Amino acid sequence: MDARIDTQQLASDNYAGICPEAFDSLLLANEGHAVAYGQDAWSQQAKQALRDIFETDCEVHFVFNGTAANSLALSAICQSYHSVICHELAHIETDECGGPEFFSNGSKLLLGEGADGKLTPASVEAIFGRRSDIHYPKPQAVSITQATEVGTVYTPDELAALGACARRLDLHLHMDGARFANAVAALGVRPREISWQAGIDVLCFGGTKNGLAIGEAVVFFNRELARDFAYRCKQAGQLASKMRFVSAPWLGLLANGTWLRNARHANALARQLVEGLEDLPGVQQLFPVEANSVFITLPESVIAALRQQGWRFYTFIGAGGVRLMTSWSTSESAVHAFISALRRALAETAQGQPPGERTQPPRGLLVRLARSAR
Ligand SMILES: *Cc1c(COP(=O)(O)O)cnc(C)c1O
Repeated sequence: MDARIDTQQLASDNYAGICPEAFDSLLLANEGHAVAYGQDAWSQQAKQALRDIFETDCEVHFVFNGTAANSLALSAICQSYHSVICHELAHIETDECGGPEFFSNGSKLLLGEGADGKLTPASVEAIFGRRSDIHYPKPQAVSITQATEVGTVYTPDELAALGACARRLDLHLHMDGARFANAVAALGVRPREISWQAGIDVLCFGGTKNGLAIGEAVVFFNRELARDFAYRCKQAGQLASKMRFVSAPWLGLLANGTWLRNARHANALARQLVEGLEDLPGVQQLFPVEANSVFITLPESVIAALRQQGWRFYTFIGAGGVRLMTSWSTSESAVHAFISALRRALAETAQGQPPGERTQPPRGLLVRLARSAR
């Protein structure tokens, strides 16, 4: 069954290990004792490293994962009677088990649309303008994901337009940056250009998918919103007592541009992968490949054949289809192995099947998203 269990997979960037630079910092932090609960020198230095990267005096808190980061950041913005406008594919909507609603004591997510997983100002305005009476949860924030759930990237212009829209409507702007590094690498911009300069109030900056074992940084550019945030973290079980082991690896990641190198590598391998899939019969690419994920549709028989060979991948993430992800540690040989396996599976099933078996047509949401104008 699991013929490939010990070899690289393209199922998720979370399948990858810890990058050596982060691991080295972890080992260094293990020498001697340090003050607990984030008051240690490692944590202070990691926060400063993030301020240096963003070129501004932001307030930083480290938490264990992205669900906590997003949920707590939004709870710092919203009261229970508020609402958050986000894309219908947003991780906060589809993959956080109601965490954002729970931690804000009931704030509602209002779902917007947009091609390629990107929320648009028009969609935000349409939702905002829907109701303004006392009976409807008051919009308080817009949440966007960079890079998006379908592996696309908001351009600086698109972000500026969303930032202006949010300001006009007096909404706070939250960014789920689980793959923020991949977006920075893809766009070749300075981090500030697609964060606070675009009007982002709070960014959940993902470390895990970029090469850490554990940890996301909640980065408040709007420091007002960070008031009492430490208490939220503690109450939610997100204040690590030995915080240095969460924070120190960030130093290894951020020093010498390792985080960007990791992201560039992942993005480049996704590009190699999609180039290898182009023109294969029965393979349909669903979204432009701009970061480190590739979404395709495949005939069901081919999906089964690949799984039989031990390949793992998700078919329910984002808009559906087969999602393939690359990471900081994905090897070219893994990409080549997948492409070869796919070619073989396509050829075999073409022989074994009655003529005319077609790629499983995309259904429902996927149809609507895939056909939206790009
Ligand atoms: C992975 C991911 C997260 C974080 O998920 P956790 O499993 O809670 O760490 C958040 N947003 C997006 C878009 C993600 O892909």
